[in-house]
Amino acid sequence: EAEKEISFFFPPEDTLAVIKPDTQHKEEILEEIQAKGFTISQLKDTILSREMAEEFYKEHREKPFFSQLVDYMCRGPCTMLVLTKENAVQEWRAAMGPTDPDQARLTAPESLRARFAKDVLENAVHGSSNTEHADQKIKFIFGDIGEIIPDTASPPLETEES
Ligand code: UDP
Repeated sequence: EAEKEISFFFPPEDTLAVIKPDTQHKEEILEEIQAKGFTISQLKDTILSREMAEEFYKEHREKPFFSQLVDYMCRGPCTMLVLTKENAVQEWRAAMGPTDPDQARLTAPESLRARFAKDVLENAVHGSSNTEHADQKIKFIFGDIGEIIPDTASPPLETEES
């Protein structure tokens, strides 16, 4: 009698990851992305304009660190990535660790920020905090993939046979 294995399938999820300017650790971060089993669905190096950086971090417009953050983000090329994996948003946040590397070194010493962040501002990596933000920022950085036009010539999904 064949044993039946019950498996649950969760569809892959996308998140936006950014390797921020000036990190000396781009290669190690890319290696970690591979090692953790993320699929790199899109990748490009971009220098953000001030305007784009302000838009990207608009949720932080009122924060005291906003202008420093914008300066930092457009100081050099960012590596923009769409990472795809089951539970990608949460897993990439976990891989990054807490915002402040001092805290990261205490609570998540293996995390990317514990290892590679300079300080709370220059903390090497970004990751979307939820799926809604992920979708929105992926569109902002990579553009819309466009509408999928239904192919009317395709056979119907269900056959009449059964
Ligand atoms: N940041 C900062 N000072 C702070 C908090 C945040 O300079 O006290 C910067 C830091 O680069 C961080 C970014 O602003 O990554 C966005 O902050 P957020 O609270 O969204 O942290 P994240 O989601 O990146 O961990």
